[in-house]
Parts: sequence; structure tokens; C-alpha cells
Amino acid sequence: MIVAVNKILINKFGLPERNKKLPDPLDLLIATILSQNTNDNNSYKAFLNLKSKYKSWDQLLDVKRTSIEKLIRTAGLAKQKSFAIKNLITNLDARGKVNLNFIKNYDNEKAIELLTSFKGIGVKTASCVLLFSLDRNVCPVDTHVHRTTNRIGIVTEKTPDKTFYALNKNFPGGIAHSFHTNLIRLGREICKPAKPNCGICPLVEICKYPDKNLNNTSAGKKRDFMLLDNVGSCQ
Ligand code: SF4
Repeated sequence: MIVAVNKILINKFGLPERNKKLPDPLDLLIATILSQNTNDNNSYKAFLNLKSKYKSWDQLLDVKRTSIEKLIRTAGLAKQKSFAIKNLITNLDARGKVNLNFIKNYDNEKAIELLTSFKGIGVKTASCVLLFSLDRNVCPVDTHVHRTTNRIGIVTEKTPDKTFYALNKNFPGGIAHSFHTNLIRLGREICKPAKPNCGICPLVEICKYPDKNLNNTSAGKKRDFMLLDNVGSCQ
């Protein structure tokens, strides 16, 4: 079913573009921390604020957490996110070097285990590093991917983390990026939380959601800016 859904979504939205150069894993991780509970435009601004102020992430070792908080205010939850970033940088420094290049040699399970051991970094954030920076065939599960995969009937799980493990158990090769990215777009523009626009949904024939909202045929606003596909372009 995943392959069929992927094909239908590519027909509808196209094959999502990727940067030719994969972003640095630590850049990607910090951008993903900033993206928690906000939109991609706001978190991208906060990320650019940090990148333009500091030439390298190890400079944050000597910076007060409150200064980081001020710079990333536009992303929301700035106190919590600045704690997570400061804690991450401090922990990497204690391991020897403020970068994450070493996880390129880790398998998926080991990389997720390490990244989620840092405070404020969950399975979704860790799996974004795997997909967007290490080019692993792993599909991160945010609120949109959780909602849409459960409505369509690909999985039947109660939480995003449970959906992640169920979905990725036997994930078909080579399609994680297009599947993940187009499902987010579906969730933002058509399969919205309260009132899905089932009347214009390309998946209406195969979707198992029992409460389809077929009367809603208005087209959703196009929202295709993806933060994590743009992190590499500002290195
Ligand atoms: S048919 Fe409706 S519920 Fe199913 S994926 Fe499309 S918008 Fe969502």
C-alpha cells in the first residue's frame, strides 16, 4: 500500500526536490529542534539567525543559553529549544568534538538511540537527521504523517512514535523522502486535522477513513516550503 500511495501522491504533487548536497547532520539536527511545534518559515528564520551569528557550532559553548534563546525567539518555545541546543553542544564537546559526522558510520538503530539520548530530542527529530542528512530510507513521523497514514489505513497506531516503528518495519526501498514529504503536503493542504478535504483528495478511492468529508471540495492553499530540504543550501 505504501508504494501505491507514494505513486498517487507523486502524480498529484510531483517528485519532491532534494538538495544535491546533503546537509551537515548537526545543522540538520539543530534545524529540526527549532522546527518543533512551529511552521517551517519561522524555524528557518531562527536557524538563519544562529548560522549568521556563529561561524561554527562550537562557538555556542561560550555563549549563554539566554543569548541563544533571544536569537531563536521567532521559532517559539525558545527557552526549551535553547536548553536542548546548549545541552546537545555541551554533550558533543564532552565526547570529543562538536559535530555529528561520526554517526554516518552508525546503523539506523544505533543512530536513533544515540540522538534520542540527548535531552529534548525525540524519535521524530532523530529520524529527520537520518532521512535528510544521511540519506537513509527512513520515514520520519510528525503529526501530519501520523494522522494521514492512520486515516488512509497504512497503520493503526495511537502515537507518532508507534506509527514510526510500525511504518518503518518493512519500508519499501528508496521512497522514504518522496513519501514523507508528499504526505506532509497532503496533511497541510488536504487531509487537515479537523475537516479533511476528501472531495479533492487523490487517495479517496483507497483511503479507509470512515468519516470522509466528501462535501468539502475546496482546494487547500499550496504550502510546499520544506525547512529540512533547505538547510543544506545555507551552509
Ligand atoms: S480521503 Fe480524506 S481522510 Fe483519506 S487521506 Fe484523503 S483527505 Fe485524508
